[in-house]
Amino acid sequence: MKLYEYEAKQEFAKHKIPVPNSYIASTPEQAKQAASRLHAPFVVKAQVLVGGRGKAGGIQTAVTTQQVEDVAGKLLSMQIRGLPVRQVLVEEKVSIQRELYLAVTVDRSNREYVVLSSAAGGVNVETTAEEMPTAITKTPINAKTGLRQHHAVDIARQLGYSGNQLLDLANVILRLYNTVIDNDAELAEVNPLAQTVEGKFVALDARLTLDDNALFRHPERARKEPQTLSPQEETALKHNLAYVKLDGEIGVIGNGAGLVMATLDLLKLSGGKPANFLDLGGGASVEQINAAVKLVLSDSQVKAVLVNVLGGITRCDEVAKGILQARSASGSGKPLIVRLIGTNQQEGQRILQNAGIQVFDSMEEAANQAVKAAKTGES
Ligand code: GDP
Ligand code: MN
Repeated sequence: MKLYEYEAKQEFAKHKIPVPNSYIASTPEQAKQAASRLHAPFVVKAQVLVGGRGKAGGIQTAVTTQQVEDVAGKLLSMQIRGLPVRQVLVEEKVSIQRELYLAVTVDRSNREYVVLSSAAGGVNVETTAEEMPTAITKTPINAKTGLRQHHAVDIARQLGYSGNQLLDLANVILRLYNTVIDNDAELAEVNPLAQTVEGKFVALDARLTLDDNALFRHPERARKEPQTLSPQEETALKHNLAYVKLDGEIGVIGNGAGLVMATLDLLKLSGGKPANFLDLGGGASVEQINAAVKLVLSDSQVKAVLVNVLGGITRCDEVAKGILQARSASGSGKPLIVRLIGTNQQEGQRILQNAGIQVFDSMEEAANQAVKAAKTGES
């Protein structure tokens, strides 16, 4: 279970990790009121359970309380990667000298926690991790002894600190580890951990993901409102489809989690980026296929859709009909690329080809074609 930034920061504050002074608000008026109890200037932050808010325009600065009200109004009517913004966090703006990255997470293969740290934190840390993996240090934590002061001191030293700052930073690291343990968390991430111009360390962003299997030990965490779902996630839930939104532009639909995963891998190998994972499950009905294709086409990031179905109980001709129904119902001209084999294969392929849809026997060819279609807009 992911906590909102403001919830994670409350948890940090409980563990004495410095965070900016802040209040949560659900309306522009509340945001203005919140600001009047804080010192200017301000940062107003959209509360959604996805990263990359800064780049998506979800982090705004303001100088006057009136500006806070105005930007809060804008943020509260926004969607970030499909999620509506229902609350904003109004914070005192911190003057940043340097942005560090700090996380404690689970290393499943080694069955232990690990501390991730980098002196190159900030909104581009994912790119840093890909292009310069050495810029991120991994420190394994022995599961029996836990994180000790001297480990934390070593990490702080590696980040380039000495003296009092080294001790301050080591304390933040220890407290982050304690936050993880006390919450049964599988991830606590601070990005950025700011070194302020005054030389202090402050957690400017906070992510805390709890282990769902341990939630029974934290009954106070039960959400009063259901987690906010995007329109696509709501549709998926209604039609019993396993749907996960991803970052790319090629929609992916398949039957069986293994087949869908393999399709995602293949797309990546062919130079494409999947926009989602969608598993129809076993014995997918025509109604489900119809709903799935419409759902994926409705994602504005999607430029082309790749359907990969192995007809078994569901016959290929039925699958083909479902795809065509969805295409005409959605009125979308986005390219659809289909790989369809199994029961009644020939009939299914014929129906699609007659409707001008490219059908392949081979997954590789279909994936290649989907990548091309996403680039050119033609199938
Ligand atoms: P994210 O984009 O979802 O990771 O949102 P963050 O909360 O990490 O904010 C993104 C970026 O906004 C940070 O990396 C900072 O550069 C900037 N930012 C956030 N809060 C403050 C602040 O209090 N002061 C300053 N100067 N910049 C901030
Ligand atoms: Mn961040």
